[in-house]
Amino acid sequence: MQPDYSRQLLLKEIGPEGQAVLARSRVLVVGLGGLGSPVIQYLAGAGVGCLGLIDADRLDASNLHRQPIYTLAQVGQPKVSLASAAVTAINPSVRVETHAAKLSAENALELVRAHDIVIDCSDNFQTKYLINDAAVLAQKPAVFASVYQYEGQIQVYKPEAEHACLRCLWPDAVADGVVGNCALAGVLGPVPGAFGALQALLTLKILLQMHGQLAGELLLLDFMNFSSAKIKAPRRPQCAAPSCALIQGLRREEPGLEMRLRSLAEAAEQGLEVIDIRTAQEVTAQPTGARHIPMGQLLANPGLLQSDRQVLLVCASGKRSLATAQELRKHGIAARSLAGGLLRLGH
Ligand SMILES: [Zn+2]
Repeated sequence: MQPDYSRQLLLKEIGPEGQAVLARSRVLVVGLGGLGSPVIQYLAGAGVGCLGLIDADRLDASNLHRQPIYTLAQVGQPKVSLASAAVTAINPSVRVETHAAKLSAENALELVRAHDIVIDCSDNFQTKYLINDAAVLAQKPAVFASVYQYEGQIQVYKPEAEHACLRCLWPDAVADGVVGNCALAGVLGPVPGAFGALQALLTLKILLQMHGQLAGELLLLDFMNFSSAKIKAPRRPQCAAPSCALIQGLRREEPGLEMRLRSLAEAAEQGLEVIDIRTAQEVTAQPTGARHIPMGQLLANPGLLQSDRQVLLVCASGKRSLATAQELRKHGIAARSLAGGLLRLGH
């Protein structure tokens, strides 16, 4: 049987063109629990072309009250396989890519880059900040939700300037355990269910470029007394894609910090921008022709680079360039250092 999208095709914001956009879209869902369950149900039903699912857990019987895609008979099985089967049962035309793993500093950036949008359905701050940092560095939208007992909040990050990231609002990751999660604090199943449904809605709105995407706003909902609030959440000046000064934990996929070359021309051939970080006197005495930003200036203001290419830092012996590259990487800049410096070129 073929999926039938007629009820959403009737909406003027969607139509056949919007449906085609959804069919081409790739969405990464991080966490397949109380938020992830409704998210994948609605996105599968809507005909999103590919769902990337990542979760390291196996189903526990205590999950079922808030994760209705699973059944009691499935307890003990890996959630990614179960969720993948659930997607296929709803809509076999959706491609599913499963990752039975934890999102980590090693895999986050690559996974986020491979999708159009990432949805945070996790229940811990470490993962939320990983998603945030990867989304900022990869310049991809992210839809966050956090639930605590009867209340929760939703936030959308997009590279566009009006959107704040998590670190704009909470610069330092809150240590897990400081604020309760479902496992410790308890939750009624429909509460994450409602937030997950809203995340799916926001994801479709973003993919379809629809109106009302929570730009620079945080949506707070309290299901105990049915109150809601939209509060302003502007981006901080330090937070500007692609390299937010507030991001430190996550590294880009790191090519070797140091590289050996015979000539600087080789660097250009490999698509690297060469930055000479020596002093003005050194450059005058032995010019390289490369762009010159003295080390001190670069460290004080990494934004000077404004390069979308990887940069290769060079100095006389390779010591200053190595230290500077290490420092720049903390700012999310994929800097490398010329091993042995200019003295070693040609040897
Ligand atoms: Zn930010």
